[in-house]
Amino acid sequence: MNMRFDLLTIFPEIFSSYLKESIIKRAVEDGKLKIVVHDIRKFSKDRHHKVDAPPYGGGPGMVMTPQPVYDCIKHVKKYNKGPVIYLSPGGTMLTRVKAEKLFKDCRKKGLVLLCGRYEGIDRRVIDMMVDEEISIGKYVLTGGELPAMVVLDAVCRYIPGVLGHESSTEEESFSRALKGKKEYPHYTRPEVFKGEKVPEVLLSGHHANIKKWREQHLE
Ligand code: SAH
Repeated sequence: MNMRFDLLTIFPEIFSSYLKESIIKRAVEDGKLKIVVHDIRKFSKDRHHKVDAPPYGGGPGMVMTPQPVYDCIKHVKKYNKGPVIYLSPGGTMLTRVKAEKLFKDCRKKGLVLLCGRYEGIDRRVIDMMVDEEISIGKYVLTGGELPAMVVLDAVCRYIPGVLGHESSTEEESFSRALKGKKEYPHYTRPEVFKGEKVPEVLLSGHHANIKKWREQHLE
């Protein structure tokens, strides 16, 4: 399976290092994930490729102009039939349930993630082209690129094979199996670290006891 994400930004380089490491990199190499980053600036019809202008009505900062965003989304829609999501502090909050739903609804169609900058994007193009607004938390960041990566990361963990072993997303914090609780604590080598020993039961190889201990230690 190949789930497609198109990321729309005026700072495409922001994504490079994150997407070229670890699990996401492997998922792309294995053909499980396709990520295309689009530079909104390339779609600007302005002589100097400008993408922002001062707000009508006055006030601080700049606003992203509608034309480059509109043309960029039009272009992307030819390849990605999924919903256009604008990352916005006022949008629907991203939760585990929401991430899983985005995966289920969009695994075949894909997802288009639109990143704002400055004071945001001209409202007209959002009303015309955006299907949904998603927030990653009640705070304001300088751009939608980190939020887009958060959405991509949270969603792509559901693609079969991305995490390496299938039960990973089921046993994770907030998953149904844990009834909304956080996960049990994890331990790895060495057995003794600065005098602190790993709980004995985890070394016992006794699966039933380990399961019981983990259930008792959900936080
Ligand atoms: N003036 C806007 C904030 C703009 S922040 C306001 O008050 O709502 C600039 C861009 O960062 C936004 O267009 C959005 O894409 C992104 N952004 C900032 N905080 C975010 C958050 N919590 N979740 C998702 N996107 C966010």
